[in-house]
Amino acid sequence: MSTQLKVAIDAGHGPDTPGKRCPDDSMREFQFNSVVARYVRDGLSDYIGVETIFTHADDGSRDVPLKERTDKANAWKADVLVSIHANAYGSDWNDAQGIETYVYTTRPAEAAKLAEAVQRNLLLETGRKNRGVKADNLHMLRESNMTAILVECGFMTNRDEARLLKDDDYRRKCAMGIVAGIVEVYGLKKKAPNPTSTPMQPVYGGKFKDVPDDHYAKGATERLAAKGIINGMADDLFGFGRSITREDVAVMVDRAVTYLEQKISQN
Ligand SMILES: [Zn+2]
Repeated sequence: MSTQLKVAIDAGHGPDTPGKRCPDDSMREFQFNSVVARYVRDGLSDYIGVETIFTHADDGSRDVPLKERTDKANAWKADVLVSIHANAYGSDWNDAQGIETYVYTTRPAEAAKLAEAVQRNLLLETGRKNRGVKADNLHMLRESNMTAILVECGFMTNRDEARLLKDDDYRRKCAMGIVAGIVEVYGLKKKAPNPTSTPMQPVYGGKFKDVPDDHYAKGATERLAAKGIINGMADDLFGFGRSITREDVAVMVDRAVTYLEQKISQN
């Protein structure tokens, strides 16, 4: 399947970026940005011919500098870059609220079109106040070679919106708004539906991000993956809730038996 659209997804900042948090330190901006980034990636994976990369460190291991982010998107030759943020006004609680989307100061036509579509869909999904599409001289928009927008999905310094920004349902809605805007502007087509698929699963720890931490099979899936006996459906997706074929069971049991035989012969 040929690639139709390459989308670089940027979760603004890193976990340790100074400032960039709720006034009571109950949430850091990266926590919101990075989870929405994953949901955007998952949402876009439902469409034909879309490739995605993250320009930030998804595991939060470091605060990737802005230049490295745009260098990565440029080198990968992304068609689109979406930088995801939560807003702040000052450093104390106040009434500033709403969603806004940015393009570079020159208001490139394609970016402006994408920004309008994403902004409209973000408002549709969330019902928040419309602060409009704005232009600013921001690094991610200035130094990127592709169509680039930056979304501010609500204010960490507003008590109501801070509550929303911490809420998984709100994060999903923001991701859906971003995805819907991209789909609309680029005319993306959905892949054939898989009746047993469960897209946009919450994110959990361990190798497989779609198996809940408190699920009875969590330990088993992680241990079997570590031994190479079971593989996920993608790097970090187990395929939670999906069914398995008889031939796949045979392969897994064969791997397990081989694993044990090797253990025994080593002793
Ligand atoms: Zn930000």
